[in-house]
Amino acid sequence: MAKSSEKSASPKNVESKDEKPSLWSAPPVKILRATDSTRIEDIDFDETPGFEGTKAEGQALLPERGEVLSALQEKLYANGRAGDLRSILLVLQGMDTAGKGGMVRNVIGMVDPQGVDLASFGVPTREEKQHHYLWRIRRALPRGGKIGVFDRSHYEDVLVVAVHDLVPRQVWEPRFDEINAFEKDLTEEGTLIIKVALFVSPEEQRARLQERLDRPDKHWKYNPGDVTERGFLPQYRTAYQRAIDRTNTDYAPWFVIPANHKWYSRLAVTELLIDALEQLQLDWPAADFDVELEKKRLAES
Ligand code: ADP
Repeated sequence: MAKSSEKSASPKNVESKDEKPSLWSAPPVKILRATDSTRIEDIDFDETPGFEGTKAEGQALLPERGEVLSALQEKLYANGRAGDLRSILLVLQGMDTAGKGGMVRNVIGMVDPQGVDLASFGVPTREEKQHHYLWRIRRALPRGGKIGVFDRSHYEDVLVVAVHDLVPRQVWEPRFDEINAFEKDLTEEGTLIIKVALFVSPEEQRARLQERLDRPDKHWKYNPGDVTERGFLPQYRTAYQRAIDRTNTDYAPWFVIPANHKWYSRLAVTELLIDALEQLQLDWPAADFDVELEKKRLAES
């Protein structure tokens, strides 16, 4: 995670175009960016890095920032309709109960679903297994003007696959370079990539699984395999650390987000998306018709 010295260096009001002071001590895009010194095992998943407000303030801020996100997304979509090939790809990674599904519902749910290309990646189907591991990924990439969201991704092919020895090391090891090259190509084709790794503590994971067992309306989310996977937490941490270290590039950066507090991780990802869209410096596409003439035609109709 970014060094805390960045906190004090950044002014308040960093991102507010109105007069309200920001509740962030530094932009999440800086504070949550993985660095060479990011160590997952040193992160306190209960923390809310950079956020200076209370939980209630964080919860109240989400829909406000959602409006900003939604307005930017509409511009992206409008440009896409006008032939702009640029897109955003949000890669969500995290173990069961880390909050990927909730992120999709509560953050991506704040924008027009027409502008979203959502894909989730589970155990490869028989057909998928017959292809290269990037085959299903390529088919699900966002089109121009879209925000693509991957609920799990090609990273499973260096995470679960390594943890459970699904293929030998000499097969998954070269994938890091291959993934970097793949993501570089994507970026050059106009896709801005944001990779998010959500982490909850083992205690929080237990509590979330317990809730799934205790509440009949959550039984559908429970998978006995999730408890089995809990036994592999250290191995997953090692695999995540390796994946982040090997693929944290300037063109496809990783953001490591403590996710014990859902309100925080959702707000943080909202800010990452806003930042990404702002980087595109979008404007409304120019009309491809004569506006004055059309006004006249309408008035006369
Ligand atoms: P979720 O549990 O996230 O709701 P699914 O049950 O559909 O979603 O599938 C998730 C499971 O699929 C996870 O256990 C994940 O590790 C596994 N998975 C995803 N990609 C792969 C892959 N390439 N190889 C093996 N398992 C994978």
